[in-house]
Amino acid sequence: MQKENEIVEVETLPLQEKEQHEYWMQKALELADKAESLGEVPIGAVIVFDGKIIGQGYNLRETEKRALAHAEIQAIEEANQYLGAWRLEGATLYVTLEPCPMCAGALINSRVETIVYGASDIKSGCAGTLMNLPMDSRFNHEARVIRGIKAKECGDKLSTFFKKLREKRKKEKVMNRIVDK
Ligand SMILES: [Zn+2]
Repeated sequence: MQKENEIVEVETLPLQEKEQHEYWMQKALELADKAESLGEVPIGAVIVFDGKIIGQGYNLRETEKRALAHAEIQAIEEANQYLGAWRLEGATLYVTLEPCPMCAGALINSRVETIVYGASDIKSGCAGTLMNLPMDSRFNHEARVIRGIKAKECGDKLSTFFKKLREKRKKEKVMNRIVDK
């Protein structure tokens, strides 16, 4: 039995609900690919309301030179515009990587009902890993958190990106050494 104040783990979901979440997470993964094609860390997010996507975003931190250009923030802004309202009550946010403190805070402020994420983030995850801001009952709004949807795919996308980046940097270093000589 799932307790109300606990994170919902993917393994505990009924198959049909799990598949539903996987369908939307796939859309978020496709947005992560867009980020990657721009040389950005591949993270994507969608907001679903009434069975359709009303907001989407992907990491654009380098492209826009903005510390706030996280996938979730853009998705929230689009959803606000779509609904003509700041409140996202009844909406679900899907993101490939666990929200950071900024995005977890923004999601609380948006009143989103459910947060679904793929991979956990051991370095800055604030929806269950380092902290669990969206489910902290001291805030005036709480969101339900579901984690682990397509977690491997979401995590692999990130680790492959960083592996390629390290290889590229290594190659550049070698090239610079050759040029120096
Ligand atoms: Zn963030």
